Amino acid sequence: MDMPLWFGPYGSGVLPGNVRDYGVNAAWFHGFNEERFEACAKLGITACVELKTFRADFAKHPELVPIGVDGKPIRFGRPVQGICLSQSDYLGEIDRELLGGLAAYKPGGIWLDYLTYAGWFETPEPDLQESCFCRDCVADFCESTGIDADTPAELLARHQAVWTEHKCRRIATHGKRFAAMIKERHPSCVVGAYMCPWGPDEYDGALRRIFAQDYSLLEPAIDVFTPLIYCTKSGRGPEWARQWLEQSPSFVPGSRRVQLILDALDYPNSLQEASRSSVPSWGIQLFHGAEIFDDSDKANAFREAVEAIRRRVGE
Ligand SMILES: [Zn+2]
Repeated sequence: MDMPLWFGPYGSGVLPGNVRDYGVNAAWFHGFNEERFEACAKLGITACVELKTFRADFAKHPELVPIGVDGKPIRFGRPVQGICLSQSDYLGEIDRELLGGLAAYKPGGIWLDYLTYAGWFETPEPDLQESCFCRDCVADFCESTGIDADTPAELLARHQAVWTEHKCRRIATHGKRFAAMIKERHPSCVVGAYMCPWGPDEYDGALRRIFAQDYSLLEPAIDVFTPLIYCTKSGRGPEWARQWLEQSPSFVPGSRRVQLILDALDYPNSLQEASRSSVPSWGIQLFHGAEIFDDSDKANAFREAVEAIRRRVGE
């Protein structure tokens, strides 16, 4: 598909009426939120939805907590994503939310969020744990691979690569399912996915091994990949945005676009670095970015970066 070039903030902040003067032509927000759709229509910009997939309140849903290699629920802090994917009632709830939203609204794009196994990557010191070894998830692995494994430890020791591949396929299958539901109802709707921002080799391959995000397997479902380049939160410098883009052709399929989401905490440095990349970001999302448009210097810096990226893309 012809992927539109969209620039704008992510979040619930209110945008001033002249925001298009600064290169903003889209906004991303959580869920199928009527107020946000109306605000976008009024501003004349494209409305894009962030759809929470595999993230839940574990206090309310303890049954969704994935099981670790020791047979116990995984360790988790306040921010955690990923659930046990054998919990079909909860999966049904996600489907219903998506179908309800698709019936009521026509977003320009839908970005699938938390389309991963369990963990948290927006930190310099991630607590990486293998999951889910509940009885149902292990049975699903054994059935689909023909491998018999007695214990999770033995499974990892002898079949790590197959286990990782199986997890990635499970995530990609759900991605395909969500994408099919979206495209069937709104064929021109862009399907994006928020991605763990690590390269394939960082943290001992945790992109696939822990989070089960495999770019090639996700390629059929996802039009645009959006890594979370949150430099301060991740303990990295602003140049990470440019470096990530320049390395991306080595692991992102050439048929797909990448569109960074940057953090307002890193503004404007990471955006300026991204705008200098020889591999352009196909548009930009700015997390919690609405407030920068209340300050004309910051807003002008956004416009300049948008213009620089558009020149790179050749528009
Ligand atoms: Zn499970």
